Amino acid sequence: MALKIRKDDQIMVVAGKEKGKTGKILRVDPEKEKVYVEKLNMVKRHQKPSAKYKHGGIIEKEAPIHASNVMILCAKCKGPVRVGRKLDGDRRVRFCKKCGEVLDK
Ligand SMILES: [Zn+2]
Repeated sequence: MALKIRKDDQIMVVAGKEKGKTGKILRVDPEKEKVYVEKLNMVKRHQKPSAKYKHGGIIEKEAPIHASNVMILCAKCKGPVRVGRKLDGDRRVRFCKKCGEVLDK
């Protein structure tokens, strides 16, 4: 199943411990059907010192959320919506099934 969610999408979590929260997609993992949402589902990780984290220690990182637990937010409907796909000319775009708004600009 191809994920309808892409990087930079605005989503709402509709199930699980972060239910009701909204955020921006940082990364998607289509194989595992997981998404990473900015500042949501944070977990503490022990980090060894590296170039990026000079001193190591405990850092907070986004843990993946299953794609079925998030829904795309439609800017027009101002809520989570089901997403469909259609052809717009020769381009495949995603649209809001509620109001018809094209979600890919
Ligand atoms: Zn809509």
